[in-house]
Amino acid sequence: MASVCRTQMKLEHSHDRGLTARMQVFVGDDRGYLDWLARHPEGWVLNVRMHADPNYVVLHRATCPTISRPGVRAGAWTERSYRKVCCTSPEEIDAAARAEGRADGRPSKTCGICHPQPGR
Ligand SMILES: [Zn+2]
Repeated sequence: MASVCRTQMKLEHSHDRGLTARMQVFVGDDRGYLDWLARHPEGWVLNVRMHADPNYVVLHRATCPTISRPGVRAGAWTERSYRKVCCTSPEEIDAAARAEGRADGRPSKTCGICHPQPGR
């Protein structure tokens, strides 16, 4: 056991469903997206355009008011111009950013309101 990677142990320990936790992409599903936010206040959200654009991959904390504040028109979060990629670990953020065309696995921008710093 002594050789087990500390990062991996931490990951397993912090997710009670183990390593099966995966990033979730919400498209056309504001209700599901807002529900995910409520269940993962410690998570992160990549706000990306409906059509993948490496120049617009913005990382937020799940608790950031700019990605969930009430009062906006229904469908504003995932049903028009944007998708939301919801992550629960830095590894998922890395994979999600790459999937959006970010070769370095980093967001193009981090939110200036919530200042996300996922394990870096
Ligand atoms: Zn934010």
